[in-house]
Amino acid sequence: MLGKYALPAFNTQDLEVTLGIIRAAEAQKAPIIVQTSVGALEYAGIEELAGIIKTEARKAKVPVALHQDHCKDFGLIKKLINQGYSSVMIDVSHLPFKENIKLTKQVVSYAHKRGVWVQAELGRILGNEDWQDVKSGEDLMTDPAQAAEFVRETRIDTLAVAVGSWHGIPINPKVKKILKTLKEHIDLDRLKQIRKAVKVPLVLHGASGVSDKQIRQAIRLGVVIFNIDTDLRVAFNQALIQNLKKHPQIYDPRKILGPATDALQKEAEKKIKLLKANKQARKFKSTR
Ligand SMILES: [Zn+2]
Repeated sequence: MLGKYALPAFNTQDLEVTLGIIRAAEAQKAPIIVQTSVGALEYAGIEELAGIIKTEARKAKVPVALHQDHCKDFGLIKKLINQGYSSVMIDVSHLPFKENIKLTKQVVSYAHKRGVWVQAELGRILGNEDWQDVKSGEDLMTDPAQAAEFVRETRIDTLAVAVGSWHGIPINPKVKKILKTLKEHIDLDRLKQIRKAVKVPLVLHGASGVSDKQIRQAIRLGVVIFNIDTDLRVAFNQALIQNLKKHPQIYDPRKILGPATDALQKEAEKKIKLLKANKQARKFKSTR
């Protein structure tokens, strides 16, 4: 798989988005990762949201993994593992390096005993709310030598790297200014060095808005999972707004949300093809 194609990890928080994602995967015969954020769990409820995804995953004709995105809370991680998540991300990258290692190791030990994978992050992949004390984009990047030590010490299964991508759409003017200090969206040289330094699969967060060309280059350099959320949300929202403008009289939620779900599915299919994950489902054994 390495260098040839990658898996999309799409975020969901409800039934419609989950359906759009899984229909896209089935249409493209792609193995996929469906992931939840802490915010999504707060919005929908853990049992409710995990229940929807697990049910759809069981019925799906393609392998679907259930992953928890950025989580600082070990207690919540334990709960999710016991809910049947196939992998979890412990993200305490805001802590000093040694602390990050210590807590990540504890999570790995708990998860591995239960057959669950762990992802962790080194460097900081930021969103609009996290930029207060940041001066330059370079300050946030994953250091390859530190990455090697981190993976060796923690025995994590996948590593989220900070190489220039960010979460969401930059709206804060200060954020936009900092982003201008980065030469290119993705620092491919850094990615190459990290790839040489560590053996575990690499994950790129904030892949919405990264050019198709850079995504393909990142796949060749060994990124095997791309987290994609914003682009699907934008597709969903645009279709929703257009639909309501065109048919202001509709009041049936199914007719309001249906076209938005279809638009999200289309966008997800586009991303699957961009990552060349289409027609790869048969190579995977089904997950739980
Ligand atoms: Zn992320």
